[in-house]
Amino acid sequence: MADIFTLGVDVGSTTSKCLILKNGEEIVSSSIIPAGTGTSGPGRALTAALNGAGLELGDLAAVTATGYGRNRFEGADYVVSELSCHALGAHRLTPEACTVIDIGGQDAKAMHIGADGRLESFLMNDKCSAGTGRFLEIMARVLEKDVSELAALDEAAQGIVSISSTCTVFAESEVISQLAGNADLCDLVAGIHASVAAKTAGLVRRLGVTAPVAMTGGVAKNGGVVRALEKELNTSIAVSPLAQLAGALGAAVFAWNKRKERD
Ligand code: ADP
Repeated sequence: MADIFTLGVDVGSTTSKCLILKNGEEIVSSSIIPAGTGTSGPGRALTAALNGAGLELGDLAAVTATGYGRNRFEGADYVVSELSCHALGAHRLTPEACTVIDIGGQDAKAMHIGADGRLESFLMNDKCSAGTGRFLEIMARVLEKDVSELAALDEAAQGIVSISSTCTVFAESEVISQLAGNADLCDLVAGIHASVAAKTAGLVRRLGVTAPVAMTGGVAKNGGVVRALEKELNTSIAVSPLAQLAGALGAAVFAWNKRKERD
């Protein structure tokens, strides 16, 4: 029987992700392009994933679009909420997880997922940039660092410079004034991560922390935030190397499930 390829595209606020599944199981290629909805990002992510798999658009049996900009993506057979896709994808990456924390570029979600990867309940912060990837990007810019450098700086911290403001704009001013006061860079980064963790933990606690806990989304790549959240929630958090692709993976799984229903 011929192989069946399904594609999931997660058009995020800051990043576009694509993932191609073979026969609903094997990940044959994926792409992450740091440009989100309304940019060339989704198209570039699609091309990169197709090239990576040596496939053409016509080889795909079904395409699901998800994420913040899902409705702007042309050529999808299915358009599915990011919460459902994140739950499905997180379940694939960490099947034992009951609670999933997703922190992306512009929002943070806490989800409870069932044994089959179905979303059972969730809480979301999409109103305030504190506790999101955007907060970290703003702080990294003030520190003249890239977000990918923050985890290593945090690891080298000897102490912590606490950030008291919960508002991103005030927190940025606080970081600038700490820099002016010669605060240690690593301790400052640890304080920034603790601030994101405190904000996220509030959301997760309101939903309820049911172990095992997993984390997805681009911010899961920041080990400093993951460690701070583990401390704050007093539980270990599983992070897959594919955490940022959870939404795209869930979308590709959704397309596969629909395709099977049809056959
Ligand atoms: P969205 O889907 O909302 O566009 P993502 O889930 O892709 O967001 O996450 C984007 C965020 O991930 C960025 O704001 C950034 O903070 C974080 N991020 C991306 N890559 C890295 C990295 N290599 N190290 C640390 N953080 C990262």
